[in-house]
Amino acid sequence: MAKPVLLTVDDDREVLRAIERDLRRNYGSDYRVLRAGSGPEALEIVRELKIRNNSIALFLIDQRMPGMSGVEFLAQAITLFPDAKRVLLTAYADTDAAIAAINEAGINHYLLKPWDPPEENLYPVLDELLEEWEAAFPPQFDGIRVLGNRWSPVSHNIKDFLARNHVPYQWLDIETAASDAEVRSLVELLDEEETRSLPIVILPNGVRLRHPSLGELAEHAGLKTRATEAFYDLAIVGGGPAGLAAAVYGASEGLRTVMIEREAPGGQAGMSSRIENYLGFPSGLTGADLARRAVVQARRFGVEIISAEATEVRIDGPYRFLKLANGEELSCHALLVATGVQWRKLDAPGVERLTGAGIYYGAAMTEAMSTKGEDVYVVGGANSAGQAAMHFSRYARRVVMLVRGSSLASSMSQYLINQLKATPNIQIEYNTSVTEAHGDEHLEAITIHCAETNEINKVPASALFIMIGAAPNTDWLGDIVERDERGFIYSGPHLTREGKRPNGWKLDRDPGLLETNVPGVFVVGDVRHGSVKRVASGVGEGSVAISFVHQYLSKVV
Ligand SMILES: Cc1cc2nc3c(=O)[nH]c(=O)nc-3n(C[C@H](O)[C@H](O)[C@H](O)COP(=O)(O)OP(=O)(O)OC[C@H]3O[C@@H](n4cnc5c(N)ncnc54)[C@H](O)[C@@H]3O)c2cc1C
Repeated sequence: MAKPVLLTVDDDREVLRAIERDLRRNYGSDYRVLRAGSGPEALEIVRELKIRNNSIALFLIDQRMPGMSGVEFLAQAITLFPDAKRVLLTAYADTDAAIAAINEAGINHYLLKPWDPPEENLYPVLDELLEEWEAAFPPQFDGIRVLGNRWSPVSHNIKDFLARNHVPYQWLDIETAASDAEVRSLVELLDEEETRSLPIVILPNGVRLRHPSLGELAEHAGLKTRATEAFYDLAIVGGGPAGLAAAVYGASEGLRTVMIEREAPGGQAGMSSRIENYLGFPSGLTGADLARRAVVQARRFGVEIISAEATEVRIDGPYRFLKLANGEELSCHALLVATGVQWRKLDAPGVERLTGAGIYYGAAMTEAMSTKGEDVYVVGGANSAGQAAMHFSRYARRVVMLVRGSSLASSMSQYLINQLKATPNIQIEYNTSVTEAHGDEHLEAITIHCAETNEINKVPASALFIMIGAAPNTDWLGDIVERDERGFIYSGPHLTREGKRPNGWKLDRDPGLLETNVPGVFVVGDVRHGSVKRVASGVGEGSVAISFVHQYLSKVV
């Protein structure tokens, strides 16, 4: 946590230096001592500290200053830091003015100049005031703060990115400015231009990022965005369960391993509110917890985790080159693709325009709190939709699941079906689909079609979560690796057709079980053609793949 500030103001340079020195000597280890030579200069500092969410514990202010007196300064400064203690420095001749100001600016104490020796005339007074301040003052949040609008897609993406990367942040909704003094004072302190182009991310060091890209945000949030080496034994693209498992096994078995993840480690599993079928966790665990544990484990073994998107792959003899969206390039001997799948888009009028403004793909955990007391609609009938419905039922007034089929039995695990049926505020509507989304700035209503009765209903809705199947993330691979018509990557036996090895395959062996048509390029998890779409199978494939990587490396290096 940033140290609270002691701010001293005096127009006499020598006096200012002397008091700063005395303050530092006695309080420097617990407080940050700042100084200013005038009231206006000090007000600038006060405003900046407020924007950064820093605390001021004490103002130690000279009364007689040209332009703005100490009392005039304090009258303005305490509107931003009403809990700070206030001490006025006066000359003997100003004593009467100081006494009069005790009520005017709520002065806690006035000190006569000179205060030497400080041990007698300064520290005892300040010790008492600071003790009082510390006892009453709650610690301020001093991490990243995001000021935005609940209905803004960019705000949603920023919150989601920070939350999924386990970066602590404070969300400040501009719509609450009327009722929330903290939001209001921040809005008043920012430039008009800044508040017009929200969201704005305020970093603890005062840097303000307007509409940052995820790459920019990653860089400022302390995530690693660049590789430290030019070459690795193993590069893994995708940090879902499959990629993380491969990273842990690869690094623990001595391979120089880098893992590149464009959003947040954990992948789809990281978005799950409760994984109940993963071995060893009888009462389930959240996807975020699984991801956090895996990341700690991977880092412990020395895996380098880079927050970036892989955009291109190039093969040159035994080297595989990866290009990243931030312009970096790195090379490796073995490349493992674990890029999973992403949600299929719902093709209905209004949906694309309102995505991020009330419509979300996936369970969007960061939005759960804001659905408190509202009606939430979840589209989909698989486990992911069931888990999301269970999660939102804890906050929302009612959760309505819109399922295209006439039952859940073929698409969802029985334990989840039982939980849904036993939850009173969850309602399941079968044979239904969303045909239109309505709203100007954010979602206000949806049109639902029932295939059984042919009825069409427009219902008010402020939150719609879509989980309707998924498509693989493989466009970035160009035509280097062979894929099926839906984009899933072929591996091992799927590549050998009528006894023939894949085109261009020159080795005197078949492609390994999890190897693609390019030697040394492996594929694991949901993105692999024919894979079982489960956390455990992704983890299994990621772990097993490392033995194939070793076999491959033993012939190349
Ligand atoms: C809400 C939800 C709940 C689920 N619940 C369960 C459950 O209870 N039990 C169960 O067994 N399974 C569950 N699943 C399924 C399970 O999560 C997936 O099968 C599993 O996550 C697949 O792992 P993966 O590593 O193959 O891919 P993913 O988890 O999809 O991870 C792929 C990662 O690659 C990244 N990526 C993609 N392209 C690039 C690129 N070009 N550059 C860098 N990074 C890239 C993505 O950002 C992503 O993080 C659930 C899925 C969801 C969505």
